[in-house]
Amino acid sequence: MTTALPGSPFLAYRGQDLYLEDVSLRELALTHGTPLYVYSRQAMLAALAPYQRALKGRAHLVCYAVKANSNIAVLQTFAQAGCGFDIVSSGELARVLAAGGDPAKVVFSGVGKTRQEMAEALQAGVKCFNVESTAELEVLSDVAAGLKLTARISLRVNPDVDAGTHPYISTGLKGNKFGIAHELAVQTYQRAASLPGIDVVGIDCHIGSQITDTGPYLDALDRVLDLVEAIEAAGVKIHHLDLGGGLGITYTDEKPPAADELIGLLLTRIDARGHGHREVMFEPGRSLVGNAGVLLTEVMFLKPGEQKNFCVVDAAMNDLMRPALYEAYMGIVNLRQRTDTPAVVWDVVGPVCESGDWLGRDRALNVQPGDVLAVLSAGAYGMTMASNYNTRGRAAEVMVDGAQTWVIRERESVRELFSQERLLPAK
Ligand SMILES: *Cc1c(COP(=O)(O)O)cnc(C)c1O
Repeated sequence: MTTALPGSPFLAYRGQDLYLEDVSLRELALTHGTPLYVYSRQAMLAALAPYQRALKGRAHLVCYAVKANSNIAVLQTFAQAGCGFDIVSSGELARVLAAGGDPAKVVFSGVGKTRQEMAEALQAGVKCFNVESTAELEVLSDVAAGLKLTARISLRVNPDVDAGTHPYISTGLKGNKFGIAHELAVQTYQRAASLPGIDVVGIDCHIGSQITDTGPYLDALDRVLDLVEAIEAAGVKIHHLDLGGGLGITYTDEKPPAADELIGLLLTRIDARGHGHREVMFEPGRSLVGNAGVLLTEVMFLKPGEQKNFCVVDAAMNDLMRPALYEAYMGIVNLRQRTDTPAVVWDVVGPVCESGDWLGRDRALNVQPGDVLAVLSAGAYGMTMASNYNTRGRAAEVMVDGAQTWVIRERESVRELFSQERLLPAK
């Protein structure tokens, strides 16, 4: 009997044991230890397919947002599938290059690019800088002209629409630090077109993350197309439309639109407004990798209490920060379905010395010490946000493909954690 879990068709119980593709997660935990991130290569490719299907037959580029999961084997998977990349640092650029990604398919986003990062991206030949302020534009012009290179740019415009998501991951509202205000866009484009070392190629927006409605996307698109018309009327040509990332996934009961459904609606609007000749770009992160990964963690102690029952596991907020940072809900299941113990309501907590160190609250689970749990939908903003807080080495990462498995990152040793530190001279 196979029982699927919400979120990923690649994750299912076979009999009593949880499998990712054709791999028993329990066996992986025994072999590699916990905490352990495990990703499904097929799930990533299956998440990409509707983007590519919907954009087939028109000039397009899907730029995977590296910050969602930057392991070089993940980047390699998307590079081989034809993707470009959305990067936010020269560190991410170095990863893309190490993974065999094509710099000519890279867009460079972010509000705080340094001169050094600009130079590295120019020398690598990135497709486009998504510029977020006039000040950045002037510096980029200076750096490019100094190197006798040309920076192809889009301005990231802030369409001032509410994406209806968590305030920490909403980026398209006036009060956010991101992008150039709608009202200043035309004059900033005119300024860009006049600067040495700058070549205007497109327009960009990214309104937030974990968006589960099509409405905000269509509103943002309309605002962007209004701007394109105004910018071109002012004499500056725009080639591509980059509509950002942000499509949500199912963590529990969210019902985000499928990528091809969303893109179909957007393309219909683009065509209806006479912009169908433009290259269309997207920058998805979470929706390509979120439900392709799980975090495995062993139950160490059960601590029943008067007000709360605590299930203490060996993964913590340093391994997976989303619950502590955004009070995010992530599904938690036992790798082995138990029938011998009754379900009890637990707070699943880690060993870190912070009350915010929890992975799930009020979860009905049948668990015993020694069991291994899977935190679901952990493929995005999991490992990339991990830290060494409490001097805890970061988890290992494994990729599965069918029945094959590869370690794509070794577990960090304690020695590595302070190898860069130095004692003061002896007295
Ligand atoms: C984070 C980010 C993305 C990806 O967002 P998701 O919600 O993971 O799809 C895309 N573009 C930019 C500019 C970003 O900052």
